[in-house]
Parts: sequence; C-alpha cells; structure tokens
Amino acid sequence: MTDRYVDCGTLYDGMGNETVRDGRIVIDDGRVRDAGPAEDVPEPDFVLPGLIDAHIHMSGMRQMAPFSRLTELEQESLRAARATVDCQDLLAAGFTTVRDLSSKIGLGLRDAIAEGEIPGPRLYTSGLAFSQTAGHSDTHYLPYRWIKDQDPCPIVDGETACRRGARARIRQGVDVIKIMATGGVLSEKDDPRHSHFTDAEIRAFVEEAHRVDIPVAAHAQGACGIKDALRNGVDTIEHGVYLDEEAIELLLDHDAILVPTLAIITRLYEHGEEHGLPPWAVRKTEASRDDHVASIRAAYDAGVTIAAGTDFIGPDLLPHGENAEELELYVEEVGMDPIEAIHAATGVAAGTVPDDDVGTLTPGDHADLVAVSADPTTDVRALRTDIDAVYKGGRRAD
Ligand SMILES: [Zn+2]
Repeated sequence: MTDRYVDCGTLYDGMGNETVRDGRIVIDDGRVRDAGPAEDVPEPDFVLPGLIDAHIHMSGMRQMAPFSRLTELEQESLRAARATVDCQDLLAAGFTTVRDLSSKIGLGLRDAIAEGEIPGPRLYTSGLAFSQTAGHSDTHYLPYRWIKDQDPCPIVDGETACRRGARARIRQGVDVIKIMATGGVLSEKDDPRHSHFTDAEIRAFVEEAHRVDIPVAAHAQGACGIKDALRNGVDTIEHGVYLDEEAIELLLDHDAILVPTLAIITRLYEHGEEHGLPPWAVRKTEASRDDHVASIRAAYDAGVTIAAGTDFIGPDLLPHGENAEELELYVEEVGMDPIEAIHAATGVAAGTVPDDDVGTLTPGDHADLVAVSADPTTDVRALRTDIDAVYKGGRRAD
C-alpha cells in the first residue's frame, strides 16, 4: 500500500550522484518505492480533501426495531463505546469531518476526539434535536411523560420553550441547533408532509443560534415545513423529500443548503423490512422514496446548493463507514458528474459547519486528505473501494 509521496525542490539520493531538480520520492509502507525526477516518477494516488458527511447520527445504536432501540437508548455507556468504533470506521472510509444532527453522546465524543483521547473525525454536533409534542422526535408509542421529562429534553412547545431550549443547547456547547420542522418516516403517528412548529417558534431557535454564530438545521420533508423553515431563517434543509417549485426558489433566494440523505431512504426502501423496520415505517418509506429522488433531481437541475449527507445512524442497515454511497446515488439517481458529487462532500458540505478550514485544501486549512488508488472523477465508486490512505491534520488516520 502506498503511503505517500514527497515532491522536492532538490533531491539528493545519497548515492554520490548529482542532485535532481524537481524530484519526487514515493514512500510505500515506510520504505522508498521510487525516487527520481518528478516527470519520471508518476504520482501514485488521486488525492482529495477529507470527506464530510453533513448529516449523521453518532448514536452507537445497532438495532432498527422500535422496542429494541428503546432498550439500547437506556445503555448510554454501551452506545458511547460502540460509537468510538464508528468513529474509526468513518476515518477509514475517508470521512474526516461529520455533522451529528441529534444524539445524546455526540458532545462527549466530539470533546474526546478533540482532546486526542480517541481517534475520530472532526465532529460537529447539535446535541439532541428539538421537536414539538407529536413531532418527529417525540417517540409516539411511549407514555408522554417518559418523553417530556427527559433530560436534556427533546420536546418544546411555544416560543418561550423553544428559545429556552436553544439556549440550553448553546449552554451545552453545541455547534448547530437541529429542529424537526415536519413529520418524518421513522416516526409513527406523524406525516412527513405536515409542518411542525409555528413561525414564531422557528424564529426563536434561529434568533438564538444566529446570535452566537451557529447555524440551524431543519429536518424538513414536506414542502410547507421546508418553506416555513426557510422563511424564518433556517440555514440547512435536511431531506427535502417533497420540494415544490416555490420551495426550490426559496432555497435559491436564501442561499440555503439542501442535504438530501438519499442513502438512508434507499437502504430503508431496499432492506428495511428484513432489519426490523415496523410496518408503518415500511409504508412511509415506500410512499416517499420515488418522490424524494425526483425532488432532489429537480433541486439539482435548478442549481440548489447540495451538501452530501447520509443520515446513517450505526446499525448494520445504516453503518458508518459506507457513507460514500451517498455520492454514488448523486451520480446514478440525481445526474451529477462524479466531480460534482465529490464537491458536495467536500467544499460544499463544509458550508454546513461553522468553521471554514475543512473540506478544502487551501493555505491554512486542516491537512485532512484522502488518497485513492483509482480516479474517483471517472468512477465515484472508487471512494468506497480504493481508498489507500487517510490523513487527518497531516497524520495518518486510518
Ligand atoms: Zn437524521
């Protein structure tokens, strides 16, 4: 396996030969594989910025069936331990930055990674997301008091509660606020087309977040909720299942970013049932999959800014480490060129986090690199099959 190569202004090989101007050394498993004039020593790898998944859940979950998930939810230390493995799988897959849009353990993981205690991608997290009562993260089949008395609380109703909720997350140190602006597929009693939260409630989240320079991400599937979110200043639209023309116009007018998450819907659609997805979720998946793809295609055709995000969570069905599948779907289903799909997972996805030193390779950026032994701009699948080496902050990370 090729580790890296070094281009040198002048190279002396220690053999008593003359020095070589514009030399190159290829290092393979710690040893020199080739050295000489750069023009005679081909670059071994295609190198691109470390990839970004702009929508994941750092949950440590391994189950899809509702009640098995519930038992797992209570085992926080187990989930945190498993998530450390997910972090390594993300790095090995070339993902050196991720945005965790709702989990209880994301904050601790983020800090442990930043301290250098555990290996993992640069992690930006929202902490637990907010929804209204009967919203997407209100677990509908459980007694209400079990949900609304949780700490930290995922349920907020009314402008004051939303404002207080946002401030509580800011107090926890989150990097982004996540709200559920519509129903969803993996929630039992709501409808992805129905909008959640009032204008005043959404504005309360946005005002509090923007005051401290962090963005707001909205889970938004139906056109109504997408438009409410955009009109009230939300920065990124997650999923965008049922975009209409007006919603696409608003995305463009507001310079908002759309994070499609086609990987999750495709996997739920193709294999959800065999992984324990309950019948109501199977029904919702089947009802929305084609519309979701058509919606993203229309947004792409209209020139909407699209950042790659999978919504992977951790179970076998939605495993961290397979995240580059999202890019394949952009090429196969949406019609992007491979280089556009790669841009969606690098420079564009960087626009979803508060820092501007990831996802690009310009002076001052983190030296987060992926070396691929095949050219992903001719076949984007190389990002899942041919990764040679991953560097985070200039250090080998896979
Ligand atoms: Zn999600």
